[in-house]
Amino acid sequence: MRGAVLYGPRDLRFEERDTPTIIKPTDAVIRISATCVCGSDLWPYRGINPVTQPTPMGHEYCGIVEEAGSAVTSIKPGQFVIGSFFASDNTCPNCQAGYQSSCQHAELVVTAQAPLLRVPLADGTLVATPDVPSDDMIPSLLALSDVMGTGWFAADAANVKPGSTVAVVGDGAVGLLGVVSAKQMGAARIIAMSRHESRQKLAREFGATDIVTERGDEGVARIKELTDGIGADSVLECVGTQESMMQAIRSTRPGGFVGYVGVPHEVELGGEELFYSHVHLHGGPAPVRRFLPELIDLAWNGKINPGKVFDLTLPLDQVAEGYRAMDERRAIKALLRP
Ligand SMILES: [Zn+2]
Repeated sequence: MRGAVLYGPRDLRFEERDTPTIIKPTDAVIRISATCVCGSDLWPYRGINPVTQPTPMGHEYCGIVEEAGSAVTSIKPGQFVIGSFFASDNTCPNCQAGYQSSCQHAELVVTAQAPLLRVPLADGTLVATPDVPSDDMIPSLLALSDVMGTGWFAADAANVKPGSTVAVVGDGAVGLLGVVSAKQMGAARIIAMSRHESRQKLAREFGATDIVTERGDEGVARIKELTDGIGADSVLECVGTQESMMQAIRSTRPGGFVGYVGVPHEVELGGEELFYSHVHLHGGPAPVRRFLPELIDLAWNGKINPGKVFDLTLPLDQVAEGYRAMDERRAIKALLRP
């Protein structure tokens, strides 16, 4: 089979790779219905995370179970399943506490931009949908594999409650789906921080009540203005830079919560500022598996439509164009169909 392989900065190739097979009895192999390019794929693509050897890519996936290992009991061939980028047993103490991305047996799933995918710990990792979905539902189900689950975790970690005032830092797919999450959790006011007209429009469609175009200190000042000088109850940090993290912390009211899901790149926090801010910080790689059953239910019943973040659909063999379009910010998120 052929799949995506990253060789170095902006050198993404679609080429022959080994066809995945069952290695352990707890594995499953799934036939990918759709996969996509993640904002975090752009870190190695741009050379910010060095690529030392040809690296298969892709960690967002959904599809039909092709084969299940002999020890797999909860899913079976023919079912449509969704899993997270962290395979997890879903039974260890960390999984039981709802942190499947810190599973004691966690394994990264990183070869999904391909027609077939081996998923370890299939029983703990994969969740089946009620039935095989119609084609038009697939983008929204695929989004649950990472971006929707991550946006949801940002809102959950930021303690969004009915009536909350929420600010979202970052207008990529995760930030936009953070808006969806905050809306679904009952936020009364959702301030999206975005400079891009098409993303502002989608943010509004998803439930944003206010748009702030300023960044950094000016962005913080605007949030304060909009919240009687206090700051937001909950702030979702969905970027991962020093500026975005400080923007999030300083936009939060004393006693408020920051949920941070942007992978930090050279972010340093000052102890003294944190001490006097009275802000709760919680984040990390999203335990998407915790949220999958609820999110599948919401998407299946049309209560959320996270598939709207895909503004480019390509055949899988044009995966390199998907990377280029996202790198050049011509697309929010590229969906790939084998
Ligand atoms: Zn576990």
